[in-house]
Amino acid sequence: MNSDYDVIVAGAGVAGALAAISAAKGGAKVVLFDRNDAQEAGKKTNWGWVCGDAVAKAHVEFIAKHTGIKLSTPELDQAVDGVYVMSPDMKNKFLFEGTGYTLDRPKYARKMVKEAVKQGVDYRPRHEVEGPVVNGEEIVGVFGKDEKSQHFEIKGKIVIDGLGMASTLRRRLPPNDFVEKDVKTEDIESTGRYIAKFDLVKENLDYYDPKNALIHLNQLMAPGGYGWVFPKTGGRVNIGIGIEKKSLDKRNEKLNKKDTLHKLIDEYVEWNPVLKNMNVDETDHNGKGYWSVAVRRQFDSLVYKNYMGAGDTMAMPNPISAGGIGPAMVAGILAGEVAAEAIAAKNTSMDFLWKYNLRFNEEYGNKTAGLEVFRVYLQSLNNAQIDYGMSHFLTKEETVAMSYGLVPEITLASTFNKVLSGISNVSAFKNLLFAHSKMKKLLHLYKSYPKDVNGFRAWRESVNNEMQDVKQRFPVNPV
Ligand SMILES: Cc1cc2nc3c(=O)[nH]c(=O)nc-3n(C[C@H](O)[C@H](O)[C@H](O)COP(=O)(O)OP(=O)(O)OC[C@H]3O[C@@H](n4cnc5c(N)ncnc54)[C@H](O)[C@@H]3O)c2cc1C
Repeated sequence: MNSDYDVIVAGAGVAGALAAISAAKGGAKVVLFDRNDAQEAGKKTNWGWVCGDAVAKAHVEFIAKHTGIKLSTPELDQAVDGVYVMSPDMKNKFLFEGTGYTLDRPKYARKMVKEAVKQGVDYRPRHEVEGPVVNGEEIVGVFGKDEKSQHFEIKGKIVIDGLGMASTLRRRLPPNDFVEKDVKTEDIESTGRYIAKFDLVKENLDYYDPKNALIHLNQLMAPGGYGWVFPKTGGRVNIGIGIEKKSLDKRNEKLNKKDTLHKLIDEYVEWNPVLKNMNVDETDHNGKGYWSVAVRRQFDSLVYKNYMGAGDTMAMPNPISAGGIGPAMVAGILAGEVAAEAIAAKNTSMDFLWKYNLRFNEEYGNKTAGLEVFRVYLQSLNNAQIDYGMSHFLTKEETVAMSYGLVPEITLASTFNKVLSGISNVSAFKNLLFAHSKMKKLLHLYKSYPKDVNGFRAWRESVNNEMQDVKQRFPVNPV
C-alpha cells in the first residue's frame, strides 16, 4: 500500500511534538497533526494547557541529550529545588529532592512545534484527528477534518498517537489484546487548577515556598488525591487539586455533603492562609481549567500493528504524583527514535516496534506498577492514618524511596517491630507491608517484561492478578 508519510504523529502536545522531532531527526518523513491553531499548539482543551506545570530537570536533560534541544527561559519558568509533601495535620513534611521547573506550557509547546518544523516535519495545525485508517488489523493512516472542516485521510507506515487522555485513535483501534481502549474511572484523577497572581500576606513555607513545590495530602480537602501550590515567576502561583471520584463520593456520603471538584478547588485556595487576593492570570487564556489524569501504570503494551502511543494516551503519568510531562517527554522521544529505526530497517512489524516497550520500561516504566500499588494503598487511608503513618511507619528516606518506586527492604522490615498504637494503625501498617510485598513482586515482573510479542499475554495475566489482589484488599476509605 502506498504511504503519504513514513510516520504520522497525532497531537502536538508534549509527547507528540517530541515524537515528530525524533522521528524526523532519524530520517523519517513525518507529518504532525494538531487540532489547535499554531499559536495555541499543544493546548489540551478549551480550558487551555491545563497542568500543574512541574517537571524534573532530569527530563529536560533527557530532551537535550536525545534531540540537542536546550530548554531555558521563557519556556522554563520558575526553577524549584524540590517538592515538599505535607501530612494532613501539617506536622510532617517530607522533601523529595531534585531540581525542577514549572514550565510555561504555551511557550514550551510553541517552541517545540518550531523545532519540529526546523527538522522538516510537515506540521498541520487545525486538523481534527477522528480515527485510524485500518486495513485488516493494520493501522495504515488517520482520518479526520482539516482546517476547512473537510474530510481528510492520510496514509503512513507508522502512526504515533500523542492525542492525550481522550485519544480518538486509541479508542478506535480494532479490538486487540495489546492496547487497552479505556482507563477505568477508579484510575483517574479529576483535576483543576488556577494560575494566578496573589498577595503574600505572611510568610509560611508550609503554604507557599518560592523555591519548592508543595503538596498537601488531605483526604477531606482533596479525597483520593492532593492539593498543590507550585511557584511561578512574576508573583504567580499554580494552585490546584486532584480528586478520585469514588473517594469524593464516599467522603460526601459520610459527611452528608454534595461537594464537587470545582467547590473543593475554591475551598483549597481559600484555606491557604498566606496567599490572598488571587487574580487569575489570563495570559494565553490559560488561567483556569479542569481536566483528567490517569494514575495507573502505563498501558501494558504501547504498540499495536503499526501503531505506537506516547504520553497520556497510554496512561503514562506517575501514579503517585500524576506527573505526566516527564514520561510524555521520554516516551515521545523513544517512540520517534524507534519509528525512525523501523523505517530505516524497512520493518514496521510489531516485533520490530516492540523495542519501544522495552526501552520505555527501562527508562521509566518499570516502576509504575509498584507506584500504582502504593497509590491504591494511600487512597485506603484516612487523614489520621496518614498522619500517624508519616510519623511512625517509615522513615522519611523510606517513604521517599517508595514514592519513587524503589522498594527499600531491610529498614522497613525492622520497623515491623515498632510498637504501634491503635488497632486501625496496626491494620494500616500490616496493609503497608502487604503493599510493599506486592510492589516488590511487580518490580520483579516488570524487570522480566517479555522481550518480544510472545509471552506478553501470560506476563500481562500475572500483572493483572497481582493488581486485582491489591485493589480487592484496599477499597478507598477517605474518612
Ligand atoms: C490539572 C492538571 C495538573 C497536572 N500537573 C502536572 C504537573 O505538575 N507535572 C506533570 O508532569 N504533569 C502534570 N499533569 C499531567 C500532564 O499535564 C500531562 O501528562 C501531559 O500534558 C501529557 O502530555 P501529552 O502530550 O501526552 O498530552 P496532551 O498534553 O494532552 O497533548 C495532546 C495534544 O493533542 C491534541 N489533540 C487531542 N485530541 C485531538 C484530536 N482528536 N485531533 C487533533 N489533535 C488532538 C491536543 O489538543 C493537544 O495538543 C497535570 C494534568 C492536569 C490535568
